[in-house]
Amino acid sequence: PLVVDSIVELRSLLKAERAMGRSIALVPTMGALHDGHLALVARARDLADVVVVSIFVNPLQFGPHEDLDRYPRTLEADVERLGAFAVPFVFAPTAAEMYPAGEPQTRIAAGSVANLYEGASRPGHFDGMLTVVAKLLGIAQPATVIFGRKDAQQVFLVKRMITDLNLPVKVEVVPIVRDDDGLALSSRNRYLDANDRQAALVLSSALGAAAASSHQGTDAAMAAARSALAGEPLAHLDYLELVNPATFLPVGNAYRGDAIALVAARFGSTRLIDNRALTLS
Ligand code: AMP
Repeated sequence: PLVVDSIVELRSLLKAERAMGRSIALVPTMGALHDGHLALVARARDLADVVVVSIFVNPLQFGPHEDLDRYPRTLEADVERLGAFAVPFVFAPTAAEMYPAGEPQTRIAAGSVANLYEGASRPGHFDGMLTVVAKLLGIAQPATVIFGRKDAQQVFLVKRMITDLNLPVKVEVVPIVRDDDGLALSSRNRYLDANDRQAALVLSSALGAAAASSHQGTDAAMAAARSALAGEPLAHLDYLELVNPATFLPVGNAYRGDAIALVAARFGSTRLIDNRALTLS
């Protein structure tokens, strides 16, 4: 792939592609690419003529005590993996290229759902995430932008921003890619030691327990997941919630229908998230 770090250059390359009638799909990432990211790239390739993968660890979406400094940066290996997928363009700007005047004056305000779940633990995270997504959409002007279901709240908020701001882009969402044992792939998994890696399986098994009890209703599904999590002493639970996919608000205990079970927990110093769709009856 051609690795581009300049906004002006990327714009001119993509303008030429569009002039030739080629459609563009953007896959925003923070790098440290794994097979989950590559599933997004594969979908992008199916949907568009030209795939742009952005690799940018966006300082705006990290809190002061989060892992911005130690977030894995593996650009060379990432570019090599994308080469094997015949991706033509990798956009890997510096923070100075994206935020030349330092912190931007103008930001996207994500709204009240952004204060729940991930947002409750990470204040300002979703404003920072939406701001960089809006910038990337403005820079690349893709017909389609691809996200993973792994970050379910992010998908909800991005779709809502695109609707609220009438942005001319289609959102495509790709299912969660997991290791064979069920652990959702994440760039942060590499921080887990062997014990925490084993313990982290409780996330997918708790979601599985919720799904297995979902025919007995909300309380039973929550109880099943909670008891699975309580059985793993190395898991420090952050939140567990059943939300309505249409509103992303917690469902009441009389709710029947489609829901998403969300979970976040810390293992050692590594915080992981997972989710699963289920139907409460
Ligand atoms: P990140 O680099 O963590 O910001 O993730 C970039 C994109 O990849 C986001 O849309 C994520 O939801 C998606 N992604 C990360 N992990 C997975 C996974 N295990 N399965 C599917 N998509 C994923």
